Amino acid sequence: MKMQQVSDHCFAVLNEKNRVCDANSGLINRGGGVVIDTQSDLPHGRQMIELFSQVWPALPQRVINTHEDADHVWGNQLFEGAEIIAHRSVPERMQKVAEPQEIQKLVHGVGHFLTRMLVKTTHPGLAAAGQQLLEDYNFDGIELVLPTTLFDTRYELNLDGTEVHLIYVGPCHQVGDTIIHVPKERVVFAGDVLFRQCTPMGWTGSYEKWFQCLDLIVQLDPQVIVPGHGTLCGIEGVLEMKAYLQYVRDESKKQFDAGLTSLEAAKKIEFGPYSEWRAPARLYMNVERAYREFRHEPPDAPWDSAGTFDAIYQVAKAKGVEVEF
Ligand SMILES: [Zn+2]
Repeated sequence: MKMQQVSDHCFAVLNEKNRVCDANSGLINRGGGVVIDTQSDLPHGRQMIELFSQVWPALPQRVINTHEDADHVWGNQLFEGAEIIAHRSVPERMQKVAEPQEIQKLVHGVGHFLTRMLVKTTHPGLAAAGQQLLEDYNFDGIELVLPTTLFDTRYELNLDGTEVHLIYVGPCHQVGDTIIHVPKERVVFAGDVLFRQCTPMGWTGSYEKWFQCLDLIVQLDPQVIVPGHGTLCGIEGVLEMKAYLQYVRDESKKQFDAGLTSLEAAKKIEFGPYSEWRAPARLYMNVERAYREFRHEPPDAPWDSAGTFDAIYQVAKAKGVEVEF
């Protein structure tokens, strides 16, 4: 984990591996201090606070959660007494998708030989994902701490003269998707609507909404964008991500029309210019999302998470790339 200064008052903490759960966080060191997203477990959350304390010595008084996913909210409890701001949908969604018990059970299970063998036989992808998480994470002690200040479409903060705009853009990757724009410093904290040099994982929402959001970021004309996952970038990162999503949707349509299942399609579609991105087999999720749209399913159709990790595993095996989530 490392901290990078983004502009005069904006900082980012980046996790270098860019695998699942390696989410970025942000800090604006003005007006009491504002942290954007709080990491995936308590050790990472504490390390983030330690790094940010170099440029903002007190515990920040505000937290923004860019959306409801676990890897962005599981350090919330470390900010005792802070105001936690998020889109109105986030508290209810967090209780659906970010309850820590399931993952705690999974990683404890895979850490235990017999359970690991059992999970491996029934869900090889889930077992591999659990083992990957064990390398870097410890989910003990996590308690859900929900946002306290909710907004609908837009929310503004004025931090000693520095304006911060929270703009609701969901559902494109997840229901609560919010981007944070600091106009004076030409910075956008994008949350998971932007992955940089790692394959995006989207859960709830539509391709169309996602494209609109990426176009909006371009219009805001930022100099630096902090993605939810991956390295800092400028507009080129947003354009490349949009090109990736367009490519996957177009290729998926061809395979859908040819009668292939989403798993068969994901095995067949070339990684193309994106093969160097981390965890390329997560392509499966983007193919499956496209298929849901072609089948006219609602954007919030539930995911079978074990089945999803198994499918990513199978795609990685079929294409001879490292199994990575
Ligand atoms: Zn994330």
